[in-house]
Amino acid sequence: MSRKLIIQKYGGSSVANVERIQNVAKRVAGYKKNSHNLVVVVSALGDTTDELIELASKINTEPSEREMDMLLSTGEQISVALLAMALHKLGIEAISFTGAQVGIVTDSSHTRARIIKINADRIRDELKKGRVVIVAGFQGVTLTQDITTLGRGGSDLTAVALAKELKADECEIYTDVEGIYTTDPRIEPKAKKIDAITYDEMLEMASLGAQVMQARSIEVAKKFDVPIHVRSSFSPNCGTMIIKEVKRMEDVVVSGVTLNKNEAKITICNVPDRPGIAAKLFKGLSSSGINVDMIVQNVSHLRSTDISFTVSKAEFPKALRITRKAAKAIGAGDVLDDQDIARVSVVGVGMKTHSGVAAKMFDALAKDKINIEMISTSDISISCIIQKKFAEAAVKTLHSKFGLAK
Ligand code: ADP
Ligand code: ASP
Ligand code: MG
Repeated sequence: MSRKLIIQKYGGSSVANVERIQNVAKRVAGYKKNSHNLVVVVSALGDTTDELIELASKINTEPSEREMDMLLSTGEQISVALLAMALHKLGIEAISFTGAQVGIVTDSSHTRARIIKINADRIRDELKKGRVVIVAGFQGVTLTQDITTLGRGGSDLTAVALAKELKADECEIYTDVEGIYTTDPRIEPKAKKIDAITYDEMLEMASLGAQVMQARSIEVAKKFDVPIHVRSSFSPNCGTMIIKEVKRMEDVVVSGVTLNKNEAKITICNVPDRPGIAAKLFKGLSSSGINVDMIVQNVSHLRSTDISFTVSKAEFPKALRITRKAAKAIGAGDVLDDQDIARVSVVGVGMKTHSGVAAKMFDALAKDKINIEMISTSDISISCIIQKKFAEAAVKTLHSKFGLAK
């Protein structure tokens, strides 16, 4: 067998406890015995990152982003050291590193930093010595030596970026399900595993809430054409390949349904209806780095209008504060907020050439008496904002309506 360089990434669920860390070590040892070169990227144990965020919020509801990165990066530092120890116990030579130690250099946009370059010489040296190299996912360092993180789910990005930099033969993402499914199998047990999916569809599904892969990691994989194999750390089965092009015998219009419960809605009432007002409202948000998602402006009566938009829950407190200030400045009315919303979406490249998908989606939701509050579309997706209490029911209805169930 030829010697390959394989990048493996193990998510938090794969290293949630001692037994699982030992299981990962055994799997890595198996590959090593087949004389492959291995770089292993690891996430923080289980829900560590969520717990650290919760802890920080008890101290300060709007913590400094630099200090957040300092805090969150500790999660991955724990798991790499423990995995190295587990491998040593199996007699495998392994060495763990932080992102900074393996030269993952980023810009300074804390909590969502972008990788500028990777100085991977240290990794190459260790691989030459025959060691398994274990890298802390989700983190990097700025040119001025500040620790950064790469956005939630960012270990996927670490793995893809290393696969590109090291020209790896394979990039495997290990998680707690057997691959990418037609929808979240935890919500709909009838969801089917997809054998292969294009970068474009996966990117859309990830951006719309399928947290199984981080959206930015797919962007990078697409840019540099890095094939990704998503599979389970608990079984030997093949998972899903994420690649440039998938040839299907038949037309598939909708390939997946996604759900995102991590958004909140803000509505500004009685906004004066004249040119330049929307620009003023959204300028403050954008200059604070807040990403506004769906925007809906209602029909204008009596020269004033209501404007609603969504933002991620993480940015919601800051967005609400800025919007209240802006609403006052432009002479608008009340600012209302709703944190009990969910976004359900259908995704598929087939939508480019097939019509009627939106009508079918709205009809399915209406039959279940689920009210649609906002709608947005792209080339290959349609999303509806609905009340959170209907979220799971909506996913199941759409999954069956579009013929995706087993
Ligand atoms: P990890 O800890 O490995 O990073 P995540 O929790 O981030 O794992 O992602 C895996 C989870 O993503 C699965 O357990 C599943 O519930 C969820 N998920 C959401 N949508 C999908 C989908 N379309 N296919 C597979 N898993 C999905
Ligand atoms: N631990 C980080 C997170 O929970 C990164 C990752 O899991 O990929 O977002
Ligand atoms: Mg993940």
